[in-house]
Amino acid sequence: MTSTMRNYTVKKGLPKDTKSVCPECGKILDAKLYDKNGKVVMDKKCPEHGEFSDIYWSDTELFLKAEEFAHDGVGLKNPMDKNLKDGENVHVFVDGQRVDMLTCSALANIDLTNRCNMNCPICFANANQQGYVYEPDFETLTKMLDALRSEEPIKCTAVQFSGGEPTIHPDFVKIIKAAKDRGFAQVQVATNGIEFAKRYDLLKAASEAGLNTIYLSFDGVSDEIYLQARDRKMFQTKLDVISNCRKLKEETGKCPSIVLVPTIVKGMNDMQIGDMARFAFDNADIIRGINFQPVAFTGRITNEERSEGRFTLPDLVKAFQEQTGYTNKGDWYPVPVVAPISDFASIILNQNKVTFTTHPHCGIATYVFMDEKGNVTPFPRFINVRRFTEGLQEISAKAEKAAFKKLYVMKLLKLLDSSIIEENLPGGMSKKQFKKMMTSIMSKRSKTALASFSWKMMFFGGMHFQDSFNYDVERLRRCGVHYITPDCQVIPFCAYNGGPEYRAEIEKKFSVPLDEWKKKNKKGAEELEAAMVVPEDQKA
Ligand SMILES: [Zn+2]
Repeated sequence: MTSTMRNYTVKKGLPKDTKSVCPECGKILDAKLYDKNGKVVMDKKCPEHGEFSDIYWSDTELFLKAEEFAHDGVGLKNPMDKNLKDGENVHVFVDGQRVDMLTCSALANIDLTNRCNMNCPICFANANQQGYVYEPDFETLTKMLDALRSEEPIKCTAVQFSGGEPTIHPDFVKIIKAAKDRGFAQVQVATNGIEFAKRYDLLKAASEAGLNTIYLSFDGVSDEIYLQARDRKMFQTKLDVISNCRKLKEETGKCPSIVLVPTIVKGMNDMQIGDMARFAFDNADIIRGINFQPVAFTGRITNEERSEGRFTLPDLVKAFQEQTGYTNKGDWYPVPVVAPISDFASIILNQNKVTFTTHPHCGIATYVFMDEKGNVTPFPRFINVRRFTEGLQEISAKAEKAAFKKLYVMKLLKLLDSSIIEENLPGGMSKKQFKKMMTSIMSKRSKTALASFSWKMMFFGGMHFQDSFNYDVERLRRCGVHYITPDCQVIPFCAYNGGPEYRAEIEKKFSVPLDEWKKKNKKGAEELEAAMVVPEDQKA
């Protein structure tokens, strides 16, 4: 058992020192975080490439609040990675320096292919652009899944297939089944939705194989946005995925739920944040939440372009408030706020549960309830979050030393009861009903549990991946979103895609030149050709 008495080894408050990278040469640099007119700024200086300054979080008050909920994790071992010696934690090298990972794989990404059925002007990652095909075969993929399930001390329980476009991998359905068979509780796919919109049979087969969640890339609710971002009209495709899910649910009684994933680009779609939230509630029978992802900058960008375009998590909170009126600043919490809950579960069940010890500045979220009349109430208005999480840590500490741990479940229920702010419960909900709902959410799938009530519940979150300008090694160490490679290395998301950048190296190592691949895969070659052409009905 891992201990629950967690600390946080980063100094809290501002100013503080950390390490970052030089955006030009990748060298590790000392960096300073400090408050400047209510915003948190990161400054660093490369002896060769000069000074860099970037907005890290655009609201100091929210930055400091997020930090109060920080917890360090217990580290991560990966027995199937032959590069690691016995007892060594998963780590990455940044400019030759070893960085040990502290957080378990809360969500592991597996890129099924770098082939895509689109050819977006802003994307340089697909096979047509790169000139090689990266597409691990079924056997390799199952080995990668096995590695995730043998992680210690906390086994990975959530996997997301990504790409390229994962739904065009020839073994897509088979690999979902393989993940379910290995005990993953959450099997997700990150997709543009084209195949699910076109092929109901594929959606049905994926659902039957055990697909839980569709992470649907979703740039906005009108085609002008898609034309800007993707050079083609895609809104109808997104609607078709949703209606296919609805049809599947009616037909079979179950379907994967959808999380919308908008990449937010300031000036392009940040003005549609509210529309997207309303769209989610309008389709709450299928859509479970929105995970907004402010764009990370890659390649060359001037200081001016960057300061104009930088959109941080507090900007999301502000835009969301202005455009929906659903929430205010106080309703948003950082990811590790839920760590005490999984710690408690680990103790009571005597097994290590996935714990979200992600860095407090990587992601923020809230839940919003809507009653029949459309009145909304954010979850933190009727639960005293601070009282609940602090109380739970005290209970966990006592339970850890006690012989009869299950007795502490009663204490948890008592704590929950005293943390409810009754007068703020959403329209017409009694304390008793709320507790009943909470108990059923914890024991069953939340959508099923909620279906017996007339309230809608929606998750709204933001996740800000790092780029070389705002890179913070302390964030990297606490990353909970990992990649696994064909040789079973676990690499944190932001190292894989930004900063030190492992992606190019890994893909090269396990890929086949495009022409060679096309000769052996006639169907795949045709698909790659087709991807270059925008269908008539999607043209501007
Ligand atoms: Zn430099």
